[in-house]
Amino acid sequence: MNKHKRIALVAHDNRKKDLIEWVHWNYHNLLQHELICTGTTGRLVSELLEKKIADDELEQSVRITRLKSGPLGGDQQLGAMITEGLIDIVIFLWDPMEPQPHDVDVKALLRIAVLYNVPMACNRSTADFIFSSPLIDEEYQPILKDYSTYLTRSRTEW
Ligand code: PGA
Repeated sequence: MNKHKRIALVAHDNRKKDLIEWVHWNYHNLLQHELICTGTTGRLVSELLEKKIADDELEQSVRITRLKSGPLGGDQQLGAMITEGLIDIVIFLWDPMEPQPHDVDVKALLRIAVLYNVPMACNRSTADFIFSSPLIDEEYQPILKDYSTYLTRSRTEW
């Protein structure tokens, strides 16, 4: 991954306030990177960042892609982007107290991020640790497990 990271931001409804506060604290840093968000999270993040840019009279713009809302397939879109190598970091504040209509998609996103060794924060502390790592501004190549044996398995192994 490059110095400029492609950062996915997703928050369930009960965690959106947390994520927006975190974005507020980290907005200077976040503007150096590209953001990919699920629908509603993306709307809130982009409103906040545009306001901060205007208030601080910065010459910068927000690079943000909004996917579909999570329950409408946004988590799956994000998972597909991870498999294509299009996401470098995931900040996913999922709700540990409420079942979600798209629980299966949430689980799939968590699984695929682990499978592809993508750094993923599921709470604010981990997001702070990721963002304070020197690696955030450096090139980095995550090690991927070699699945060639799995891919070339023969019929006799089924
Ligand atoms: P939302 O989706 O940003 O559209 O609310 C988040 C989610 O539930 O995965």
